[in-house]
Amino acid sequence: MAMTKKTQKDKISIIVPCYNEEESLPIFYKEIDKISQEMPKVDFELLFINDGSIDKTLNQLRTLSEQDNRIRYISFSRNFGKEAGMYAGLENATGDFVAIMDADMQDPPSMIKKMYKIIKEENYDCVALYSKTHKDYSLIRKLFTTCWYKLIAKISSTEQIPGARDFRLMKRKMVDAIVNMNEYNRYSKGIFSFVGFNTKWLNYEAPDRVAGKSKFSFFKLFKYAIEGILAFSTAPLVLSAIVGLLFCLISFIAIIVIIVKTIVYGDPVGGWPSLACMVMFMSGVQLFFLGVIGMYLSKTYLEIKKRPIYIIKETEQDYRESKKEL
Ligand code: UDP
Ligand code: MG
Repeated sequence: MAMTKKTQKDKISIIVPCYNEEESLPIFYKEIDKISQEMPKVDFELLFINDGSIDKTLNQLRTLSEQDNRIRYISFSRNFGKEAGMYAGLENATGDFVAIMDADMQDPPSMIKKMYKIIKEENYDCVALYSKTHKDYSLIRKLFTTCWYKLIAKISSTEQIPGARDFRLMKRKMVDAIVNMNEYNRYSKGIFSFVGFNTKWLNYEAPDRVAGKSKFSFFKLFKYAIEGILAFSTAPLVLSAIVGLLFCLISFIAIIVIIVKTIVYGDPVGGWPSLACMVMFMSGVQLFFLGVIGMYLSKTYLEIKKRPIYIIKETEQDYRESKKEL
């Protein structure tokens, strides 16, 4: 890699994954522009990832990139998901510091100032945010979230902070480490923790979405939670072995009891309902753990295919060049 001469000014790259954010984008841009003007000693790069939006998000990004040369964008060929968006951003950001933010203002741009100050003054590698209050969450979702964080803390070796958001500001070294983890099944909350480095956690109250709707339904989040367990823990596999062993032990004791009973009391035929229940229970347990193994296998299968995490259809450079040709 060619050594580039470091300019005096720090550069902060802001990655914003966008999926149908036409309503939020103008508000977000206005706010982040304001913040950047309040930080004259820092250069900014705004890297928007258009994750296959079907509304006017791309058009807005094109226009914005014409108005402001700090704006870059990467537009995917289809919807690849927020994880792919974050990875594309991290891989393509050029700043000394990199932040990831949602477009919907739930990650307030004004926090950037505070985060940058902490990272510079307190010598952290990363400042990340968590939010314990979720006014827009239903009771069931809150309950599931609490249980899930407790579970993942027990079965995974990576630290997971309850209520952690993807909103964070990181130093270049940490970003490079994350980009090096180019696994296909991405679970960023785990990856951020896996790479280590010093992270300072700040609590804040996440506001409601400024416009538009959340793209994460309960079902999508549930799938994401399973993804997190599969990506960062092999405990379910160990559990299947332990349950198997336990049942072997129980059946061994049952065999001895039955033999002794038969010798002592003779052999009365009976008890078939309990036998039927046992067979059904056992096949249920077996199928369940077969499913668990299958899930790990399917992840391995997708991983070895080495499919691209995202596919780029257009960037701001393509757009500028197409404009020149006209
Ligand atoms: N997002 C994305 N791709 C998707 C879904 C979401 O890039 O497939 C973006 C979305 O535009 C937003 C961020 O990810 O900037 C967080 O999404 P959202 O606000 O819907 O999630 P929530 O805050 O409700 O968890
Ligand atoms: Mg949101």
